[in-house]
Amino acid sequence: MNKAVFFDRDGVINERIKGGYVRNWDEFVLSPDLGNVLQQVRAKGYLAVIITNQRGVGREIMTEKDLLKLHEQLQAHLSTAFGVKFDDIYYSTDLSNDSPRRKPSPAMLLEAAEKWDIDLASSWMVGDSTSDIIAGKQAGTKTVYLVTKHTDEVPADTIVIGSLSELLELL
Ligand SMILES: [Mg+2]
Repeated sequence: MNKAVFFDRDGVINERIKGGYVRNWDEFVLSPDLGNVLQQVRAKGYLAVIITNQRGVGREIMTEKDLLKLHEQLQAHLSTAFGVKFDDIYYSTDLSNDSPRRKPSPAMLLEAAEKWDIDLASSWMVGDSTSDIIAGKQAGTKTVYLVTKHTDEVPADTIVIGSLSELLELL
């Protein structure tokens, strides 16, 4: 079986726009740590998978095509700049907080686990929202919370890091 690091997107691999949506590559501010972190994650034998809620599509602030284009640009940039990219990207455009797929549901992690033969107990979910931590716990992964300038309250019962690079000390 494989092991994976599941990454939330906005607030973890790129800067979150508080109260708004990152709609395109021009608005996408990559974490300065990400290239090195991805290289090390892969070197340590983990798959790297994005698990992201993108309600901006459901709200028609952007289209699904815009989202897919942005993810293609992200992957192309990572490949060129760092020689590494994400193995897969899962997103939910659902609007409802009760969505069976949108985080805090573990559904996207479970989909990835089935497709990639991932041992969830050996895997990590890293996020900057309580919903990321809940999704990881419900899927059975280890969880780590990244504090950002937007953090109001740190969820209980999880490991906390202050920069994405600190993740590497845990793997
Ligand atoms: Mg986030």
